[in-house]
Amino acid sequence: MQVLSVASEVYPLVKTGGLADVAGALPLALAHRGVEVRTLLPGYPSVMRAVGDARRVMAIPDLLGEEATVLEAHHKGLDLLILDCPALFDRAGGPYVDDAGKDHPDNWRRFAALSKAGAMIAQGIAGGVDGWRPDLVHVHDWQAALVPVYMRYASEPEIPTLITIHNIAFQGQYGFDIFKGLELPPHALSIEGVEYFGGVGFLKAGLQASWAISTVSPSYAEEILTPEFGMGLEGLLAYRSEDLTGIVNGIDADVWNPQTDPHIKAHYSIDTLHLRAANKQAVADRFGISQGTGPLFCVISRLTWQKGMDLLAEEVEHLVEAGVRLAVLGSGDHALENAFHTAARRHPGMIGVISSYDEPLSHLMQAGSDAIIVPSRFEPCGLTQLYGLRYGCVPVVARTGGLNDTVIDASTAALAASAATGVSFSPITAGTLRRALRRAVRLFDEPKVWTAMQKQGMKSDVSWEMSAGLYASLYSDLLIRKGA
Ligand code: ADP
Repeated sequence: MQVLSVASEVYPLVKTGGLADVAGALPLALAHRGVEVRTLLPGYPSVMRAVGDARRVMAIPDLLGEEATVLEAHHKGLDLLILDCPALFDRAGGPYVDDAGKDHPDNWRRFAALSKAGAMIAQGIAGGVDGWRPDLVHVHDWQAALVPVYMRYASEPEIPTLITIHNIAFQGQYGFDIFKGLELPPHALSIEGVEYFGGVGFLKAGLQASWAISTVSPSYAEEILTPEFGMGLEGLLAYRSEDLTGIVNGIDADVWNPQTDPHIKAHYSIDTLHLRAANKQAVADRFGISQGTGPLFCVISRLTWQKGMDLLAEEVEHLVEAGVRLAVLGSGDHALENAFHTAARRHPGMIGVISSYDEPLSHLMQAGSDAIIVPSRFEPCGLTQLYGLRYGCVPVVARTGGLNDTVIDASTAALAASAATGVSFSPITAGTLRRALRRAVRLFDEPKVWTAMQKQGMKSDVSWEMSAGLYASLYSDLLIRKGA
C-alpha cells in the first residue's frame, strides 16, 4: 500500500510538538506492515540543510503564484518529499512564527500551498512525482487540511483521504478576504466547503472533505464531540461521528530507550532501577537544585494554559512545603515563565527552571526525575507521560484525553491489583492537582509501592506496534470502501 502523508513538521527534521513525533515515527512503524509512506513537508531552512543534496522530482511553476519544486530525499529511514518554495518557506524563525514569536502573516498561504502541492502529487496533476500515485492520502492538522479539499474540487478520480487531528485548538481560521488567494472554485466558499463562522476554516474544510477522521486518543475522540472540547467543530464532528476514530500515539522505542539512550548519564532497565540515581543527580546539577534522596518531580512542557501550567504555578509553594524538588523545562507564556522563575528565586535549591527547548535534557529528566507532572486542561494524546512510563518516571496527570487512556491511577483497587502506573486527577483544578501531588509524595515515601508503579509503567506497551496496526486497518477499510 502506498500512502502520501502531509505534515507541517516531521521529527527529527523540524519539531514544535507531538505532531512532529507522530509524523516522523508512524511511517517507520507502518513500513513493517507493508505500508510504504512518503511524507511531504515544507522546505524550511533547517530541512533544506539537513537533507543536503536532494533530487528534483516535480516542478510547480505557479503554486498559488509562487515558483516551487518538489525534492525527493531520504533521511533516517523516512522517504521524504520536500516542498521547496523559498518565497514561502525560506525565512528565519520557527515553522509558524518569526524570530519575535509572532505568527507569519501569510501562514494561510504557506499552508494552502503545502496542501495544494499535496493534492497535485496525490492526483498526478502536472505529472505528479515521477508518475507515482498513492493509494491513500493521510494529512495532519490544519496546515495540511486543505489537501482533501483541493482534491475534492479537482476533476480527478477520488483517492481515499484521512485527516488526523492532533489538537483541535489550532484550526487555521481566517477572514473571507483570503478565499481568492486559495484558488479554489467559487462554490467552495459554502457551508459544504471552506466557509466557517463567517470566514474560512482550514481544519473545518478538511474535516468535511476527508473520507475519514482520526484523532490521537479514544477519550479525545469522544471529548471533541462536546462544546467544551470541540471548540466550534463539535457539530460537524457529531455529524461525521461514524467516520471518527481515536488511535493513541506511540513513541519511538529506539529513540526513547533507557538502556541505550545517548543523552542520559547512566543506562538502566526495569531490573536496575537503582541506577537512575546517577541521572537524578545529573538533573539536579543541571537545574541548580540541591542533591538529596527526597522526591524530584519534573515538567517538560510548553508553558501554557492548555498544559495547566498556571495551576502548577499556583501550587509550587505547597510542593516545596511537601519537600518536593521541581525541575521545569519549558517556555511559552511569558507570565507563566516569570511565575516559575520567581518561584525558583524564592526557593533556591528546591526549584530550577530552564526556559529553552532542549531535547537531550528532556531525555535526562525522564531518566532521573521521580515523577513528571502533566496537569493539562485538555490533552489530545500527550507524549511526555508515555516517555515517563517507559523511563520509570511516574506520571502525575490530569484525567483527560490521552492522559486518561494511557495512565492507570493508583487507586486502592489498582494498587492491590498491581495495575497502577501513575496518579491522575479530575476535575482539573489547583486543589485537585494539590491533592494528586500529595498522593504522589505519599506513594513515593513507600519505596516498594513506588517501585512497583515504576515497573508496571515500564511494562506498558507505549510503542507504535499496536497503533500502527490500527492505522493500517483503518487504511485498509478506506481502500475497501473505495472499491465498494
Ligand atoms: P504538545 O504537542 O501539545 O506540545 P505533547 O506531549 O504531545 O504536547 O508533545 C510535546 C513534545 O515536545 C514531547 O516530545 C516533549 O518531550 C517535547 N517538549 C516539550 N517541551 C520541551 C522542551 N522545552 N524541551 C524539549 N522537549 C520538549
